[in-house]
Amino acid sequence: MSASGPNGASLVGERLDVDADTPVADVARAVRGWVDQHVPEPWREASSRGTSAIREVRSRADYEAWYPVFGRSGLVVPTWPVAYGGLGLTTAQARAAEAVLGPFNLGRLNPLGLNLAAPALFAHGTEEQRLRYLPPIVRNEEVWCQLFSEPGAGSDLASLATRAERDGDTWVVTGQKVWTTWAHLSDFGVLLARTDPDAPKRKGITYFLVDLHQPGVEVRPLRHITGEIDFNEVFLDGARVPDDQRVGEVGDGWRVANATLSGERQMVSGSGSGGVDRIGGSGAERLVRLAREVASAGGGGWNDPVVRQALMRVLSEERIRGWTNQRVRAGLKAGRSPGPESSIGKVHQGGLNQRIQLLATDLLGPHAMAWDRPDGAEAYDEQLPYEVKGMLRSRANTIEGGTTEVNKNIVAERVLGLPREPDPWQAAPWRDVPRS
Ligand SMILES: Cc1cc2nc3c(=O)[nH]c(=O)nc-3n(C[C@H](O)[C@H](O)[C@H](O)COP(=O)(O)OP(=O)(O)OC[C@H]3O[C@@H](n4cnc5c(N)ncnc54)[C@H](O)[C@@H]3O)c2cc1C
Repeated sequence: MSASGPNGASLVGERLDVDADTPVADVARAVRGWVDQHVPEPWREASSRGTSAIREVRSRADYEAWYPVFGRSGLVVPTWPVAYGGLGLTTAQARAAEAVLGPFNLGRLNPLGLNLAAPALFAHGTEEQRLRYLPPIVRNEEVWCQLFSEPGAGSDLASLATRAERDGDTWVVTGQKVWTTWAHLSDFGVLLARTDPDAPKRKGITYFLVDLHQPGVEVRPLRHITGEIDFNEVFLDGARVPDDQRVGEVGDGWRVANATLSGERQMVSGSGSGGVDRIGGSGAERLVRLAREVASAGGGGWNDPVVRQALMRVLSEERIRGWTNQRVRAGLKAGRSPGPESSIGKVHQGGLNQRIQLLATDLLGPHAMAWDRPDGAEAYDEQLPYEVKGMLRSRANTIEGGTTEVNKNIVAERVLGLPREPDPWQAAPWRDVPRS
């Protein structure tokens, strides 16, 4: 049964009343109706003037407060099944929906839930786990982080030392994680822990979903070079995880982790579903606008042919990156498993964004080193020019989600078929492997 909203919007409760049999044109019409009814009027009005105009009328807090409306509509993840918070749409229908939503810049919140936790649940979780955890991820009601890296286990993640020991129906977890993005804001984390120290390092790991709001979990924020807090150290001291929050078999966590790591590479290369296509700064089109502003203020900028050439180079690369990401996304939606494209994309996107952000600071010239303090800006991170902040943040792009060097190893081995990197400890029990 369907009820009609304004402008032909068809709504059941708050979920959009469309399904895989709805003609594509009707899906687009229903989404337009939903936008008219649910996206606040000032945001809609600003959308005709671009993303920065939307940002002027829509604070992050406003967006977070409104977001459950978006989450309940099913439009956050339109191709996911209805029971998990989606609409069960086909790729063509979802593309039509996204084309309507695009101008309103409705970015997806909870990207680590959507891109890191969800792929593991889809590939290896039980139906009960998917029904319990996926809908609140979509609605941003439970925020997620990733508890993988440790002080002695980053690139060589499989050497991780955090222990989980069984105590009846519960696991007791002890160890330290680090670089845990948004742990200070999260409710749950996907966790890798060692359950069998006598097995080789990749065999004795198990994958868990851990509730962060418990006495055995201490989150200590770390501060970025820009002054902001994004990531944390997480100390686990007797944290308890019920066995029904284990994903996959005991000792099979490395395989489960690969679903998360692959989702993470797609997210940071821009081909994921969580709306993250660049971490730090803005894209090449904004650089073109900045270059024109510099020129009209009497500087070189757009008037300088060398600057124009550099801009066109990154603009073309960004377009190619976008098309390649579209191809990867289409492949995934058609049911193909993610291949090494995500490693290639990760390597390219990390380096490209660093070059874009460096160009932005070049365009600022001396203002990138000495700037006026904006009115009312007290904290250091509020005083930094946007371009400088983006450039500093982009330095992490070639580290986070797997370093460029390690991703090049993956491409060398899995795409080019070069010999595998030797690992003399591969078959040895983890407890005998030397660790830093
Ligand atoms: C901004 C940011 C956010 C992050 N968020 C999270 C998060 O939310 N959750 C999480 O679990 N982790 C997170 N990380 C951690 C990230 O995954 C690790 O930093 C990364 O995997 C590298 O590990 P490492 O820092 O221990 O460096 P190391 O592994 O010690 O590497 C040091 C250097 O050696 C090189 N190197 C290492 N091994 C090889 C090799 N085999 N071949 C060639 N070169 C090699 C590396 O490329 C690097 O240059 C985050 C990191 C950053 C910077």
